Amino acid sequence: MKRLSVLGSTGSIGRQTLELVRKYPEELSVAALSANASVDLLEEQVREFRPGIVCVYDADAAKELRERLRDLSGTTVTEGMNGLLEAASCDEADMTVVAVVGMIGIRPTIAAIEAGKTIALANKETLVTAGHIIVPMLGKYGVSLYPIDSEHSAIFQSLQTLSGARDAFFGGHPSVKRILLTASGGPFRGRTKEEMENYTVEDALKHPNWSMGRKITVDSATMVNKGLEMMEARWLFGLRPDQIRVVIHPQSVLHSAVEFIDGAVIGQMGTPDMRLPIEYAICYPERKEQIADQLDLFTVGKLEFLRPDEENFPAFALAGEVLERDYGYGAMTGTTLPVVYNAANEYAVARFLEGECGFMDIPRMIRRAVDEHRVVSAPTLVQILDAEAETYELLKR
Ligand code: MG
Repeated sequence: MKRLSVLGSTGSIGRQTLELVRKYPEELSVAALSANASVDLLEEQVREFRPGIVCVYDADAAKELRERLRDLSGTTVTEGMNGLLEAASCDEADMTVVAVVGMIGIRPTIAAIEAGKTIALANKETLVTAGHIIVPMLGKYGVSLYPIDSEHSAIFQSLQTLSGARDAFFGGHPSVKRILLTASGGPFRGRTKEEMENYTVEDALKHPNWSMGRKITVDSATMVNKGLEMMEARWLFGLRPDQIRVVIHPQSVLHSAVEFIDGAVIGQMGTPDMRLPIEYAICYPERKEQIADQLDLFTVGKLEFLRPDEENFPAFALAGEVLERDYGYGAMTGTTLPVVYNAANEYAVARFLEGECGFMDIPRMIRRAVDEHRVVSAPTLVQILDAEAETYELLKR
């Protein structure tokens, strides 16, 4: 029996993780759950899965849930960051699924590693902003980390052809030439900057292939999502920036691939369905039956591959620049640049979703924050969180 702590259990990845537990009750169980404030759904989840700990980040919502669960014994309701750390590292869990959104994921991931939990990581920000802290810790505590992000899962699956590739941190392998990180291109692929200037929240939320949360759907439209994935892949697979190539692939059938030095390209294909990468991370190295719909290549017919459009997607081009500059400080050093890139994007997307700025203001705000930032190399956790707060302050001015 594998016992899971699911952080962010009311979000899209969290709910699909619980769907997997529901499907395999003999093999998977829930030790802890956490959510920000969605009390209704969290209450249902607690009653169904009976975790020992449930954390509600928001204190008022935690009080509400405690009230509602008074008839239930065996579940402790915790709150705030301390509650989240407790849920991430509780004794009863074997694996921590980090599916919270944002930099709030860093500390619980660290706590889970320190407690020796296997990590299934859906949170991008953790490796993007704190890869230089997390990666050495995995070695020190002998902990495995499996990616849930579909592209990184595809790369991880493709690396399985190398003997001994039991861990994602295996890509800095001499046989690996580079990775091909695929991107659908989002709803605005083929449009110009001028056209996108007046695009609305509604336009941006129409993703052609994947159904995801609001923030990540906007990130897909700006291609910031792919930029963050490049930064994540660098840490996850131990790659240099020039070993990461983004390929626009509108059909979202090839989920990413690895190029080997002998010319072989091995990739993972499938229907666009997050249930598969979730299953692979949680059940690795086993594969379960009927997780995602079977891919029918005859229905797909043809696959296209295009170069990314850096001219009209300036936030994506900037991600490449940030990655290069950051890597320039040292392969394992890390800087606050990705923190600023990520925080500025978070701020800008929140404004955009509130209708307070235009779509193309998102890349402009990120550019401004990155340009005005004074870089700190090898930042501590405190310095990372400071850089985040400073970025928000700068953009509010
Ligand atoms: Mg992805």
